[in-house]
Amino acid sequence: MAGAEVKVNAEIRDLTRIERIGAHSHIRGLGLDDALEARAVSQGMVGQTKARKAAGVILKMIQDGKIAGRGVLLAGQPGTGKTAIAMGMAKALGEETPFAMMAASEIFSLEMSKTEALTQAFRKAIGVRIKEETEIIEGEVVELEVDRPESSGVSKTGKLTLKTTEMETIYDLGQKMIEALTREKVQAGDVIAIDKASGKVTKLGRSFARSRDYDAMGPTTKFVQCPEGELQKRKEVVHVVTLHEIDVINSRTQGFLALFSGDTGEIRPEVREQIDSKVAEWREEGKAEIVPGVIFIDEVHMLDIECFSFLNRALENDMAPVLVVATNRGITRIRGTNYRSPHGIPIDLLDRLLIISTEPYTERELRLILDIRCEEEDVEATDDARELLTKIGHETSLRYAIQLITAASMVCQRRKGAAVDIEDVSRVYSLFVDVKRSTQYLIEYQEQFMF
Ligand code: ATP
Repeated sequence: MAGAEVKVNAEIRDLTRIERIGAHSHIRGLGLDDALEARAVSQGMVGQTKARKAAGVILKMIQDGKIAGRGVLLAGQPGTGKTAIAMGMAKALGEETPFAMMAASEIFSLEMSKTEALTQAFRKAIGVRIKEETEIIEGEVVELEVDRPESSGVSKTGKLTLKTTEMETIYDLGQKMIEALTREKVQAGDVIAIDKASGKVTKLGRSFARSRDYDAMGPTTKFVQCPEGELQKRKEVVHVVTLHEIDVINSRTQGFLALFSGDTGEIRPEVREQIDSKVAEWREEGKAEIVPGVIFIDEVHMLDIECFSFLNRALENDMAPVLVVATNRGITRIRGTNYRSPHGIPIDLLDRLLIISTEPYTERELRLILDIRCEEEDVEATDDARELLTKIGHETSLRYAIQLITAASMVCQRRKGAAVDIEDVSRVYSLFVDVKRSTQYLIEYQEQFMF
């Protein structure tokens, strides 16, 4: 990294985000109303109303800047939505808010020290919103706000005031539109109209001046002009990248491709120091803002005493993300010591945590979650199949039942069925065992395995 040159790369963003969704992609928030009461089913969230409400109160504290130096502990049985709630909190904080998720056992790897793994996770949860000004190049699409006089008198004079306001690059307008533009052979200076509802693109040409052009378009139309000479202007581009992404891009040993493989290795402290001071400089100049995100650590009882001291210290930092940890343990030994404590967490850290407990789901709630997942995965399923999945979820685990949806849908496709039915679910239920059956099987066949 030469001198103070700190590189950022905004394009990596979308890909890392995709990686973080998957099992929880249906969750779009905590599903609370304005009074912070949990709606029964909302934003992909079902039941667990007390815990969601509590999470909402914490969210409010975060937004009011009142939670510095503290965190949240979600305590409850496996599959009761602890990760889902953490994800809901991140979503409710806004699309830009980084969310980093890890299982505590991940830190015990041979690749890097425990504190390095935690540092990376923390830095994945700290966003930097960077503002940049760039030139609009000729031929690039610029969105225009069209002054549309009440009387539409424009048609008589043939003149029209085009005011450049909010701008977008062609990339933001979507693949469909780009295709349409190519087909229509739009050139610099041409005005095009996009119907926001249907996505239909119409080329209006340079002399976009007749009132009937407007009238034909309807209120959902957005006008866009491909700028030429005199329209060239500067535009502000804002993107959010995480400190971890900046670290990796600037690390001499790691190319930015390491972000995709996840194989980042250790990052030297000097690199981080340089980045931190550069970011501090940008903040002072008003070019950047910190977006504290949410870091979620599952199975927190798996951390050891060194890690817990790290967390205590990290929470003091003024850029610290909101720490959300989860466990399904009661009183247990703190790893690395001979002491036992609630949830296996040292008392000094517990003191800083607000505790939320999650409860097991009723069958009705399980059914609703499974319905949402079917929709999310675009899977048609009959009522009977859903009923069976719910029973399976109740007897084994919600997660197992959710996994069966995808598998059953593949089986259904193979037999060219229109909707997943009971036999597809039974088929995959017998193909893939759940944990209970798997251990049972091992116990039964133990003697044959151990000879
Ligand atoms: P573990 O302790 O095993 O880590 P967990 O308590 O974190 O489990 P999740 O992973 O959040 O449980 O839940 C399992 C699945 O069910 C996920 O796909 C999650 O998105 C979904 N889910 C859980 N609770 C809800 C809920 N209240 N509303 C909607 N979906 C949920």
